[in-house]
Amino acid sequence: MIVTIDGPAGAGKSSIARRLAERLSFQFLDTGAMYRAVALAALRRGLSDGDGDAIAKLAGELSIDMRHERTILNGEDVSAAIRTSDVSAAVYLAADNVAVRQRLVELQRQIAQGRDTVTEGRDQGTVAFPEAQCKIFLTASPEERARRRLAELVARGEPITLEQVLSQQADRDRRDAERPVGALIKAPDAIEVWTDGLTPEEVVDRLEQIVRSQQ
Ligand code: C5P
Repeated sequence: MIVTIDGPAGAGKSSIARRLAERLSFQFLDTGAMYRAVALAALRRGLSDGDGDAIAKLAGELSIDMRHERTILNGEDVSAAIRTSDVSAAVYLAADNVAVRQRLVELQRQIAQGRDTVTEGRDQGTVAFPEAQCKIFLTASPEERARRRLAELVARGEPITLEQVLSQQADRDRRDAERPVGALIKAPDAIEVWTDGLTPEEVVDRLEQIVRSQQ
């Protein structure tokens, strides 16, 4: 069974999807981490706007391993390195690149092949797994999402303000919505869940109910 969880930045998708996967004993796939890994590799090579072909080529050559909830890039554990705000600000270099998206969608399908999976991202129910049995669209208000992101970044010791988080988030929301391929759109058959005012536990309970009702 494939469960897709799509939604905007900061809706709580990663932690919710991870917990849901644990409860169901499904594999968990964080597809944002894959785009982040490609962006990190591009930054390290000094690639930037206008280097689309080089970034596509790079993505084709990289080894990205998503096993055991770690992100392994060419043998190096980059799980922490891909979470900095520098990588967040540059992730569009990977996410806006059609060839990179094709390569990562292929990889996502390989990873899910033959395994019960909770997969989380922007295009999982629309592009990567349009036949998925259970699709969730997880969202929350921009203010709530920014507050959560800020708490995460501050806990990691990043010097950043709520205004900066809100502005980066608005930028990413716009890019996610306007992307010609793999844009953030709610699949027509996805169930929308708003998480404002709910604890993570309450959200996971709700999602577990939805999945079990469709099993
Ligand atoms: O979810 P996370 O914030 O880690 O994702 C990083 C970026 O990767 C997002 O801003 C989004 O632009 C992109 N992304 C995507 N498609 C996915 C997952 C993430 O374009 N399936």
